[in-house]
Amino acid sequence: MDMKKVLESGIGRMNPRIASWVFKTIKAIPSVKKKIQKEYDDIMKDLEGVIKPYKERSISFSHLPDTGRDKDEIIKDMETIGSVEESKWKDGYASGAVYHGDDEHIQFLNRVYAINSQSNPLHSDLWPSCAKYESEVVSMTANMLGADRVSKSPDSDEEICGVVSSGGTESILLAMKTYRDWAREIKGITKPEMIIPNTAHAAFEKAGQFFNIKIVRIPVDSDYKADVSAARKAMTRNTIVIVGSAPSFPHGIIDPIEELSEMARERGVGFHTDACLGGFILPWAKEQGYDIPPFDFRLPGVTSISADTHKYGYAAKGTSVILYRGLELRHYQYYKATDWPGGLYFSPTFAGSRPGALSAACWAAMLAMGKDGYMKAAGEILKTASFVKKGIKEMPDLYILGDPLWVIAFGSETLDIYKIMDYMTKSKWSLNGLHRPPCVHICLTLRHTRPGVAERFLTDLKSAVTYVRKNPDVKGGMAPVYGMAATIPDRGVVGDLLDRYMDLLYKP
Ligand SMILES: *Cc1c(COP(=O)(O)O)cnc(C)c1O
Repeated sequence: MDMKKVLESGIGRMNPRIASWVFKTIKAIPSVKKKIQKEYDDIMKDLEGVIKPYKERSISFSHLPDTGRDKDEIIKDMETIGSVEESKWKDGYASGAVYHGDDEHIQFLNRVYAINSQSNPLHSDLWPSCAKYESEVVSMTANMLGADRVSKSPDSDEEICGVVSSGGTESILLAMKTYRDWAREIKGITKPEMIIPNTAHAAFEKAGQFFNIKIVRIPVDSDYKADVSAARKAMTRNTIVIVGSAPSFPHGIIDPIEELSEMARERGVGFHTDACLGGFILPWAKEQGYDIPPFDFRLPGVTSISADTHKYGYAAKGTSVILYRGLELRHYQYYKATDWPGGLYFSPTFAGSRPGALSAACWAAMLAMGKDGYMKAAGEILKTASFVKKGIKEMPDLYILGDPLWVIAFGSETLDIYKIMDYMTKSKWSLNGLHRPPCVHICLTLRHTRPGVAERFLTDLKSAVTYVRKNPDVKGGMAPVYGMAATIPDRGVVGDLLDRYMDLLYKP
């Protein structure tokens, strides 16, 4: 079946709900189903070579080797693969992904990991060091985010506390579960709802699905900031939490956290600031005179914050911090088993056993950076961002979405932005494609602050614009995939494609 023909037949222009029904009905017809499967197979075949570049080599194993392999050989194979992949991020061609990446820093973290590789916070008797490292990571992050400026009255439970999790997504999932259980116990809410801006990270929607919390979406305004009056209208008796980003993943824009959190406080519900991306940049940007609106615990309505140590905290991948206002709130996150034959058991996060070495490496990264290190890193990233923004503004075919700091999303009113992204991919760049509205972003990291990288980005982007202006009908790449995702009215079809993509990742 040619998707395009089906769409051109008019389904694409129908009322989305009717179109979705038409699509589902057509999809259920066996012959159509077969054709759709065939279409998926073709798309996946094209992708397989890109996703599985090592298949043809002798280093693929779908079964255990009969005898253990030589360790030096294993290391050699991995070094070969690692060096190929390193070339994609080391020279600053990637958006986000690797936030520090200097050799000396990586080697330091690897040494710390090696010292602690056997440790597991689940066994706090064997490794009390884990609790030390994690409690200090939490405390240093909390104080960076205003915990030491919270005015405490002696009888109030205002202490800022938290835990170390495995990443931003886990921090967000934990916080949403915490609000659900808190609201059930304290307010008797059994049909919980969370209010999230459209631009909030997908992890919130994931939390809604996993924990049965209804997602109430609010739009963003023309500056890509959450619409405060829409949030007010979205509040019901079942609202448990309102969310804002500082800044948002797609467009790097800070939501009106002050207004939103104040609204939450007046109504006695939680407010979560998602500072996964900004937690380790915004405090230092503010100290250097950048105009940063308040977003942290200095605002009395903010009851939790997620901040990713494994992004601009420059730790190894696998850590993040989730902070709460008050020990009581954190209790709703904890898991306790009091009757299990396996003994009295508890775990603060989703996992049981956890890699203590990652927490140790996170602690070490924070100490090695220090305030001055974070300050300097933030300053360089923001300076690079000003240069990149100026360069993009000088290209009349492009426009920047809103007024971002260092995560810069850009679109085009004259050209297909995904074709520009495809050209950049061919020039080695790995940018993030976004949609609704169609745009692309680059999330600047320390990799981009190195000499010549930002200049090369702008030069390549200029070539991309020139090329697509001359060749508007160029085929291939991600442009048709985003094109299809935009016109297929049935989100289930797009979801099916993503299922197939994930299946492909796990194909041996
Ligand atoms: C990266 C990010 C997350 C999710 O973090 P992961 O570490 O990828 O799980 C959540 N929110 C924002 C704003 C982010 O940038």
